Amino acid sequence: MLEEKLKHIVRDVHDFPKPGIVFKDITPLLQDAQLCTEMVDAFVEKLKDCQMDAVAGIESRGFLFGLMLANRLQVPFIPIRKQGKLPFHTISESYALEYGQATIEMHEDAFPKGSKVLIHDDLLATGGTVVAASKLIEKLGGEVAGYCFVISLDFLNSQGRLTRFSPHIFSLAHYK
Ligand code: 5GP
Repeated sequence: MLEEKLKHIVRDVHDFPKPGIVFKDITPLLQDAQLCTEMVDAFVEKLKDCQMDAVAGIESRGFLFGLMLANRLQVPFIPIRKQGKLPFHTISESYALEYGQATIEMHEDAFPKGSKVLIHDDLLATGGTVVAASKLIEKLGGEVAGYCFVISLDFLNSQGRLTRFSPHIFSLAHYK
């Protein structure tokens, strides 16, 4: 089963990026081309009832499968990046981190008004990042079509923060 395979390959890295944190490292997945294809197949299957005009991926690990998925679905890919990285005119949204805050940005011409945009990231933890991404989509007159993640840390119970934007929330591997 795909979920078990993913959990077997994703690596726990202790004390990264700081002491006390156990980081889920997805880079070993990228070594297995067949598995990457299976993952994109699984996203496509889960999203078959979800209408979308574009896929937005969040820097940087959200670019990996986000672009693959957009390309497979033959829809545009929209990069959402950390502050100061995108070259053209941007809109931005800040959100709280455990200590301090972060700002993400999107190009102001990322999609036409009224577009349905699927948000993809590698991992859902507190949901702060994708809530900020959702606000960016809405600021530009778009609609959040849904969310898909490689991994969801379900024990943090953050899915409820996303349902006000879209009920379509999918992950390939859940940690309960
Ligand atoms: P959230 O905003 O949901 O708390 O955190 C999710 C964001 O932080 C995602 O962009 C994700 O890439 C990153 N992140 C947080 N913890 C981890 C982790 O353990 N593994 C990976 N791969 N990314 C993480």
